[in-house]
Amino acid sequence: MEALKQDIRALSKQELRDFFTAAGDRAFRGDQVYQWLWQKGVHNFEGMSNLSKHTRALLEEKFCINHIAIDQQQRSTDGTIKNAIRLHDGKIVESVLIPTKTRTTACVSSQVGCSLDCTFCATARLKRMRNLNPDEIFDQVYTIDQQSRLYYQRPLSNIVFMGMGEPLMNYSNVLAAVDKITHKEGLGMSPKRITLSTSGIPKMIKKLAADEVKINLALSLHTARQEVREQIMPFAKSFPLQDIQEALQHWYDYTRSRVTLEYIVWKNINDQQKDINALIDFAQIVPTKVNLIQYNAIDDDRFEQADKSVIKAYTSQLEAAHITVTVRQSRGQDIDAACGQLANKNTAKIEG
Ligand code: SAH
Repeated sequence: MEALKQDIRALSKQELRDFFTAAGDRAFRGDQVYQWLWQKGVHNFEGMSNLSKHTRALLEEKFCINHIAIDQQQRSTDGTIKNAIRLHDGKIVESVLIPTKTRTTACVSSQVGCSLDCTFCATARLKRMRNLNPDEIFDQVYTIDQQSRLYYQRPLSNIVFMGMGEPLMNYSNVLAAVDKITHKEGLGMSPKRITLSTSGIPKMIKKLAADEVKINLALSLHTARQEVREQIMPFAKSFPLQDIQEALQHWYDYTRSRVTLEYIVWKNINDQQKDINALIDFAQIVPTKVNLIQYNAIDDDRFEQADKSVIKAYTSQLEAAHITVTVRQSRGQDIDAACGQLANKNTAKIEG
């Protein structure tokens, strides 16, 4: 029986160089392969056209490339494209292309399912099945970049880790992917165009700051009252707001980078004056920007978007406290591509 081949993308650049010297070739060959994999995003060895036939056959014999595939693509009336992405083991994640007049943003997944239990999020209903590998995260970005070029005649401009999963619970793979995305021998994107969104894992926020990754941080806050947060995001019992505040201070001390606070306003959950006051206090700990995001219904009647008047009250009071606030419209709702709606609705393979 043929031995299981190793995915060549699990090798570092040095390991690739070592492979070629051990095979009696030049180390430089490893650099060429590295570029094919991480700059040109090839799916197979045949495509590595500056390598000899012999070298390509050698790679074919020893390695495989477990590239992702688009299982299904849906296009929204607003231009948003949702991709159901099939991984090599048949599991499905979702990645979304979000176009605006001037930008194209890729919303990518970091886990199959999610380890957290936010009661208002469709992805939380899927159990966490596994972490994505760095190449699986990279491939989502690469695929959306191609789609942006094809459908919008421009390269991808921004990346948000706001798809399925909690990126800080798959820390090393997310960072390895960011390295390939930002490296000059990879896609060469600026880390400033990447935003990692977290539900708030204090220890990992501190680590991200200390590791000097230079990407932006968004916190899915949704309420600055601990007792309310524990109700809607039960894992918050283990990660109290006080610890998150301390982690954000640490983040700002290290990075001097403003934190985005994501916040949905719901009827009867966080629509009172005391909720606004708590948010204003929280938002002043370090320089922040508040994004009031629209709630995307996921068929649970406990949650209903608050009235416009409440959103107005939030906006005007935040502004009066000199906190930048934007009200974000939802995108791709008609195809369940909006935040919190990614749950493989159209794919039965998720349990596969
Ligand atoms: N786990 C990470 C990233 C994935 S969620 C995080 O929590 O930040 C991406 C964003 O979508 C988060 O801000 C999340 O709170 C938000 N979200 C989840 N469910 C939603 C829903 N039903 N409507 C609108 N936003 C939602």
